[in-house]
Formats: sequence, structure tokens, C-alpha cells
Amino acid sequence: MPWYETFDTEQQRRLPALKVLREEPMARHTTFRIGGPARRLALPASEEELTQLLELAKDLPHTVIGNGSNLLAADEGVDLLVISTAAMDGVEQTGETVLRPMAGAPLARIAVRARDLGLAGFAFAHGIPGTLGGAVVMNAGAYGGEMCQVVRRVGVWDPDRGVVTLEGPELKFGYRRSVFSTWSEAVVLWAELTLQPGDREAIRGEMEELGKRRRSKQPLEYPSAGSTFKRPEGHFAGTLIEQCGLKGFRIGGAQVSEKHAGFVINAGGATCADVLALMDHVRKTVYEATGVTLEPEVRLLGR
Ligand SMILES: Cc1cc2nc3c(=O)[nH]c(=O)nc-3n(C[C@H](O)[C@H](O)[C@H](O)COP(=O)(O)OP(=O)(O)OC[C@H]3O[C@@H](n4cnc5c(N)ncnc54)[C@H](O)[C@@H]3O)c2cc1C
Repeated sequence: MPWYETFDTEQQRRLPALKVLREEPMARHTTFRIGGPARRLALPASEEELTQLLELAKDLPHTVIGNGSNLLAADEGVDLLVISTAAMDGVEQTGETVLRPMAGAPLARIAVRARDLGLAGFAFAHGIPGTLGGAVVMNAGAYGGEMCQVVRRVGVWDPDRGVVTLEGPELKFGYRRSVFSTWSEAVVLWAELTLQPGDREAIRGEMEELGKRRRSKQPLEYPSAGSTFKRPEGHFAGTLIEQCGLKGFRIGGAQVSEKHAGFVINAGGATCADVLALMDHVRKTVYEATGVTLEPEVRLLGR
């Protein structure tokens, strides 16, 4: 029996209220707007529903996604149970300066909540289009801020131990990485963020200023997955790509942005194959011209 028939039977028996979509196009769940159908896509609405689903899916092929803002999904589809945290988006205040968002809470919403409560230290994340879970996994950062500066504790589901709490050095944060980068079975359920008392209007001003800088530099008018490559030691990927004359270079619907060479954009009807071919061409060209190897930041799903 194919794995998804086992899943359908078990889901009906153990989690009948869970929202499950069949053959759901991943293009609807990634900011690149690319990707064929996920065999099954589930949207748990609470931590309890998510952990029960993870128990059920233990021996079935599955993956967890947030807003899909760092993902490139295969054209031929994803033969997995894709678990989206999009419906788990609560943000609780658990202490005077402590917020506890759930995995699927968008960073923008957390930043606005922090601002409204007069809590500083999260404005940097306002323009990053990810969720709390994806941002913890990637140690997302911008304009001098990084998740590791505010994350104190993380609630994690692990197939062997169930729900555990990690903190401090256990989280192994580094540049765009964390302990979760090499621990693919672990799922982030929530995190505690420690912020500082601040002035609401000053935080509002900082968020507006960073938003302006982002809009002036980044091709936000096109679908993309943000920076395509990691920042190579001692360089900027975008500058190297621009120096190689690749700004505007296009394969099919995928294009090196004219506005910011560090972004590959979906300029219209791009496929996963277009993006991969373009990334390959950029990597080869940059390596031949400069000797620098560009490592993808975008994660591939389904190949
Ligand atoms: C226009 C644009 C601008 C961007 N700017 C920035 C920026 O300034 N700085 C920056 O760091 N990034 C930036 N990004 C990239 C992206 O937003 C971040 O990497 C973000 O943290 C990804 O979050 P997500 O929820 O979308 O994760 P997804 O893309 O859905 O997933 C990313 C990875 O995390 C895993 N994952 C997601 N949720 C969980 C969970 N709950 N538990 C375990 N694993 C999980 C997935 O399996 C996947 O491996 C940008 C992207 C775009 C499109």
C-alpha cells in the first residue's frame, strides 16, 4: 500500500478534525510561487494537533514547513506529507519582556506585537517573510539583528523523546544555521523571545526605516525566496554575481534580479528547473571568474 493510503486511514481514525489537502500545489505554499503537488499537505491548528500528527507520521515520509520563504519545490511534485505550521500562529506574552510565539507565527506579526507592547529588539525581523519556526531553524537575520540575539528557549518535538526544551548553547546558532540544520527530525513548536523595554514610537520609526531600505534594495515586487546564496566568507554574493555581468541574466522564467543580483526572481512562469539551471550557471560563472564557491541558501524540497 502506498504510504499516503496508510496516512489517510490513520488520519481518519486518529485525527479526523485535522485539515488535510490532497495533491496540493506547492506553488501556493512557497514565496517563489513554484512547485508541483504535495501528495498530502496537513495544516495542524494547535501544538497538540501537531505533536499527535508527528507521532502518526513518524514512519511516513514527511517534512515541516513554515511560510515556504526559503524553499524551492520540485516541478514534478513532492512525494511527502508536507506539514505546514501556517495555522499555528499565536503570539503569547508570558513575562514583562517575554513573548512566546508558536511555530507558525509570522515574524511581521511578532514584530508588530512587540512594538505595540513597547518591547524593543525585534524590529530587524519585521520585513523577513518567514515564520518563527523557519526563522529559528535558519537563525534568520537582517540589519545587524539575528534570531540568536533574542531566542532564549525553544520547545522542540523529537521522535525519540517527545517534547523537550532547548536553551543557550544547546541551540548551536551560527550564520544562518542552528542545531536544527543537521537534526532534520526535530520540529520547532514555539520559542521564548526575551526583548527589552523600549519606546513604541522609536520602534515604529525603526521598522519603517528598515522597510524603506528593504523596498529600495530588494525586488519585493517579484516572487522569490530571498537571497539565493549564502554570504561567502569575506564577500557578498550579490556583488560577485553583479561583477560577473549576470544582473538580469535569465533562463526561462527565472532571472537574476536587476535590482539586487543576490536574488533569483520568478519573473513570470518560472519552473524549479529554470531556477536550478540559473543557479548552476551563476555558481559556475562566479567560480571561474573569482574562485569563490557560492553555497545555496535556498532549500530544495522534493528532489
Ligand atoms: C523577499 C524575501 C526576503 C528575505 N529576507 C531575509 C532576510 O533579510 N534575512 C533572512 O535570514 N532571510 C530572509 N529571507 C529568507 C526566509 O524568509 C528566511 O529564511 C525565513 O526564516 C524562512 O522561514 P519560513 O517560515 O518561510 O521557513 P520555510 O521556508 O518554510 O522553511 C525553511 C526551513 O526550515 C524548516 N522549518 C520550517 N518550520 C519549521 C519548524 N517549525 N520546525 C522545524 N523545521 C522547520 C523547513 O523544513 C526548511 O528546511 C527572505 C525571503 C524572501 C522571500
